[in-house]
Amino acid sequence: MYGYTIFHEDILGSLISSVRDGSASQTYIFEGDAGLALLDAARLFAQALTCENPAAAPCNTCHVCHESTVGTNPDIITVERPSDRKTIGVNTIRDLNADVIIKPFHGQRKVYIIPDGDILTPEAQNAFLKTLEEPPVYAVFIIITTNRNLMLQTVLSRATVIFFPPVKDSIVAAYLDEHYPEAQNKEMLVKLAGGIPKEIDNIMEDEQFYVMRREAAKMLPLLLTKNKLSAFDVQKYLTDNKDEVEKILNMWVLMLRDILIVSLGDAERVINTDLADTLLPLSKKVRPDILVSAIDEIYSALSMLNRNVSLKSVALRLPLRINR
Ligand SMILES: [Zn+2]
Repeated sequence: MYGYTIFHEDILGSLISSVRDGSASQTYIFEGDAGLALLDAARLFAQALTCENPAAAPCNTCHVCHESTVGTNPDIITVERPSDRKTIGVNTIRDLNADVIIKPFHGQRKVYIIPDGDILTPEAQNAFLKTLEEPPVYAVFIIITTNRNLMLQTVLSRATVIFFPPVKDSIVAAYLDEHYPEAQNKEMLVKLAGGIPKEIDNIMEDEQFYVMRREAAKMLPLLLTKNKLSAFDVQKYLTDNKDEVEKILNMWVLMLRDILIVSLGDAERVINTDLADTLLPLSKKVRPDILVSAIDEIYSALSMLNRNVSLKSVALRLPLRINR
């Protein structure tokens, strides 16, 4: 769509309809993972909001649309963190509050996009409130965040919150094909991206990725053994790699899936083909019910980590639970 990277055609479709039928709101919070290209979604929506032909917005033919697509539309303002700060503070929002009173250059609307709403301080959000309560009719605000709970309740209650969920594997696969046509193990990469297309970029740019996968595969027998002492090795491995734990756990799920599939006699559907030497012998050594229990326990470990249970205890509990 118009050179933007859009992964949620359906959501953008309804936002654009709201521009065309005049029902768009003035304050939006776009919530979703950082790898879902929400800034492009916000920019396309802003193009539609400022287009000179609202009934057909974004018409892509008016001069305002042209300015939007090349990034020179003076009525689309991106509010960013000052380069010497780690957060967006009250001064930045005071500048916004002063700027919003000035009428749009072209006349339709003036759209403020805050790409990193996660770092808006509570003081800045409070300073924003008065503008959000009574914005000029032409003003629209789009705050992008990975988690709506980082916003004050008072801000949330004045906004239309749009949640952008992870997308289907087929959309991730299309992104992979377009950007990395030569990639190996595409099916595995798609699964590891977990519905976040730009996670593929992180994986492809991570030189350590294949090394990390090999190490994770080598640790798998320790996870599956009945020897209780191995549990401490697993715990040490996971705590030593604390920044990569979720990635490792997701890799293990895919590896266990492969071992299980081979033990069921369906070697054709193996995903981690390059790790066959390490993984496939395990299909003869480990019972299928242990493999299934391992997958269950890894999901339970992931959910505990999401609830902020300490890594040290989750990392020890995991191997012990598998081999009860
Ligand atoms: Zn237009």
